[in-house]
Amino acid sequence: MTATLIDGKAIAQQVRAEVRAEVEAWTAGGHHPPGLATILVGDDPASAMYVANKQKACVEVGMGGFSHDLPADTPQSEVERLIRELSDDDRVSGILLQLPTPDHIDGPRLTTLIPAGKDVDGLTPVSAGLLAKGLPGLRPATPSGVMELLRRHDVEFVGAEAVVVGRSDLVGKPVAALLLAEHCTVTICHSRTRDLPAVCRRADILVAAVGRPQMVKGDWIKPGAAVIDVGINRTDAGLVGDVEFESAAEVAGLITPVPGGVGPMTIAMLLRNTLEAAKAAAGV
Ligand code: NAP
Repeated sequence: MTATLIDGKAIAQQVRAEVRAEVEAWTAGGHHPPGLATILVGDDPASAMYVANKQKACVEVGMGGFSHDLPADTPQSEVERLIRELSDDDRVSGILLQLPTPDHIDGPRLTTLIPAGKDVDGLTPVSAGLLAKGLPGLRPATPSGVMELLRRHDVEFVGAEAVVVGRSDLVGKPVAALLLAEHCTVTICHSRTRDLPAVCRRADILVAAVGRPQMVKGDWIKPGAAVIDVGINRTDAGLVGDVEFESAAEVAGLITPVPGGVGPMTIAMLLRNTLEAAKAAAGV
C-alpha cells in the first residue's frame, strides 16, 4: 500500500475533544450547556443503537441530552406536538428525528418542522437551501465529516477536480455543495453517468457515496488522489466500502478505510453542529 491512511477514528476523537473543551469554556462563561434532543419512534434496534450512541456522545462532551423514545404506535400529531415543544425550549439547541420512522408517520415531512437554527442534522429543505446559496447554516454531519477529513490532511481544494459518486440528499449533493464552496471544480456522478471510470480518473478528490460494495476500482483512480469512501456495505466478508480498498490504496495519495474512516466522523460533526447551534441561538 502506498497511500496514506486517513484515520477517521483518531480525527473524530480530536474533534470530540475540541468540542468538549469549547463546551467547558462556554458553560464556564455562564451559558447553559448546549443540548441535543433526539426523537426515536418505535423500537427498531439499529435506530435505537444510533440514538443511544448520539446521546452518550453528548454526555461525554458535557452537553445536555434530551432523549424522547416514543412507542411505535405514537400518532403523527403527537410527534408534531413534541417537535414544536422542543423548538420552543431554550435548553434544546438541536433536534434530531431519527429516520426511518414507522410507516404511519411521514418522517421526512416531520423533519421540515424542525427550525433551521436547531436542525443539527442539516437535512431540512431550509438548511439545504442555505447550503446551496452559500449562506450560513447547519451543514449535514456526514458530508461535514468528509470535509473535515480532507482539511485535516491539508488537501488543496482551490481549483481541484472533485468527483462525487452519488447524488443523495443525505450525502452526495451536500458533499458536492461543500466542495464547490471551497472552490473545487465539482462533478456529480450517479447511476446514469456514462463511463464512470473515466470521470473518476479525473478526480484529485474522489468521494464515493453509492452503497455498492467495492465498486470503485484502483484503475479508476488518478495517482495521488484523495479518496474518501462513504459507503458502508455489510457483506459476507464483513463491512466494506464502495471502494476496492486494496487496489485503490496502491494508487491513491490518501484514502479512508471502512470501517474507521468517514463513519466515526458523523457523531463528532453532529456534536460540533449542536455547539454551533447553541452559540448561534445566543447570538455569538
Ligand atoms: P443512496 O441514497 O442510496 O444514494 C446512492 C447514490 O448512488 C444514488 O445517487 C445513485 O444514483 C448512486 N448509484 C447507485 N448505483 C450506482 C452506480 N452503479 N454507478 C453510479 N452511481 C450509482 O445512498 P446514500 O444515503 O447516499 O448512502 C451512500 C452510502 O453511504 C451507503 O453505503 C450508506 O450506507 C453510506 N452512508 C454512510 C454514512 C456514514 O458513514 N456515517 C452516512 C450516510 C450514508 P441515482 O441517484 O441515479 O439512483
